[in-house]
Amino acid sequence: MTNPVDTLVIGGGLLGSAVAYYLARAGSSVLLVEKDQINRQASGQNAGSLHFQLEYRMIENGIESARKAAEAMPLHLHAQQAWAGLEAELGTSLGVAQHGGFMVAETPQQVERLGQKVALEQASGLVTSLLDGDEVRRRAPYLGPSVLAAAFCPSEGKADPRRCSLAYANAAVRLGARLRTTSAVAAIARVANGWAVTLDDGSVHRAATIVIAAGAWSGRVAQMAGTVLPVSPVGLTMTATARSPSLIKHLVQHAGRRLSMKQTVEGNVLIGGGWPARLHHEGGLIDLERKPELLLTSLAGNMAAAAAVVPGVAHLPVLRVWTGMTALIADQLPLIGEVPRAPGAFIATGGSAFTLGPTYARVLADQVLGKPAAFDVSRYDPKRFGSLTFA
Ligand SMILES: Cc1cc2nc3c(=O)[nH]c(=O)nc-3n(C[C@H](O)[C@H](O)[C@H](O)COP(=O)(O)OP(=O)(O)OC[C@H]3O[C@@H](n4cnc5c(N)ncnc54)[C@H](O)[C@@H]3O)c2cc1C
Repeated sequence: MTNPVDTLVIGGGLLGSAVAYYLARAGSSVLLVEKDQINRQASGQNAGSLHFQLEYRMIENGIESARKAAEAMPLHLHAQQAWAGLEAELGTSLGVAQHGGFMVAETPQQVERLGQKVALEQASGLVTSLLDGDEVRRRAPYLGPSVLAAAFCPSEGKADPRRCSLAYANAAVRLGARLRTTSAVAAIARVANGWAVTLDDGSVHRAATIVIAAGAWSGRVAQMAGTVLPVSPVGLTMTATARSPSLIKHLVQHAGRRLSMKQTVEGNVLIGGGWPARLHHEGGLIDLERKPELLLTSLAGNMAAAAAVVPGVAHLPVLRVWTGMTALIADQLPLIGEVPRAPGAFIATGGSAFTLGPTYARVLADQVLGKPAAFDVSRYDPKRFGSLTFA
C-alpha cells in the first residue's frame, strides 16, 4: 500500500495526461497509471483534426440527430479557444495550425444539408458560413470541380497527435504528478474516504478521487468501479501519403461521405474521416487488446472520396495505413463528470476527444476540484445513464 494521493488518473492518453496536468497545476497530488506507454492508443493514432463544425457522423442521420449533437457545441466553442492558447500554456510546439476548415458538398442534397447544419451551428454561436463552389475554389484552389459548395469554419485546423499527450504529461510531471506506465489497473474498490486501486503487479494505491480516462476501455474500467456506462469501442482507419509539396492548406471534411484530409508540415497528406476497421472478438466479446483489422473496402472508399474532392492527391503514393480504436457514447454526447453510484469516481470519454480533449480535461478537473463549471455541462453528466446501474 502506497501513500494516498488526491487523485489517481487511469489512462495516459490526451485526456488522462491533460487532467493530470490541470489537477497538478491546482496543487493536487496526482498519480497517473497507464497500462502501456503515454500516447500509445487513440490519442497518438488519430488524424489530428481540430474540427469544430458538426461532423459527418452527426449530420448523416438528418437534422434531428444533428440537433442532438449540437448540444455539445459549448464544448466546441471552448475548444477552439483552448487550442489557440495551448502551445503558450504548455510552453512547447504542438503543431497547432488553425487556418480554417471546409466541409464540402458534391450534390444538391448535400448542399441543402450543409445549409441546415450551418444554420444550427450559427444559432449555437459557432462562426461558420456557406460558400458556393467558385468562392470555395478561390480560397482553396486544390479542391476539385465536383465541389458545389462548402461550409467554412475559420478556427478549424490541425494539431500533431504525436506531441500533445506527451506535452501534457511532461507538464504534469514538472508540477509534481507521478506517472506509472506499463501498469494496468486490475481492480477498483470503494474504501473509507476514497478508492483503492489495484495494479496488475499487485500493488494497491489509495486515492480520494479517481479519474477514468481510459478511452475505448473506459466502459470496462467503469465496471471495475461498479458502474455500467454505454461506452462503445469503435475501430477506425487512417492513411498517410508520401510527402509532397504544400498542397492542402486547410482541414477538409465532407458533408455526404466519410472524409477528413489535411497536410502535415512535413508534407504527408493524412486521410481519414471515420472509415471503419473491424474489431476482433475473443469468446464472443470484443477484444480490446488487439488492434482492429484493416478493411480494404474502407481503404478503397476513403481514397476514392479523397481523390474526388482533391484531385491532386490521386497520384500520391500511400506511405502507411493504420487502424486505431476510439470510444463513442450511445447518445453521441460525451461523458464528463462523476460516475453514477460511485461518488469520487469521475470519467471523461466519448466523441472527438482529440479536438475536445483539452476542454473535457478542464471541465473534469474543475469537477474533481469541486469548482463551479465555466459553462453549463449538465448535458454531458454520466448520471443520465444512472438507470443502467442497479446497485
Ligand atoms: C484513427 C482515429 C482517428 C481519429 N481522428 C480524430 C481527429 O482527427 N480528431 C479528433 O478530435 N478525434 C479523433 N479521434 C478520436 C480521438 O483520438 C480520441 O477521442 C481521443 O484520443 C481519446 O483520448 P483518450 O485519452 O480518452 O483515449 P486514449 O488515447 O485511447 O487513451 C486511453 C489510455 O487508457 C489506457 N488504459 C486503458 N485501460 C487501462 C487500464 N486498465 N489501466 C491503465 N491504463 C489503461 C490505454 O492504454 C490508453 O493509453 C480519432 C480516433 C482514431 C482511433
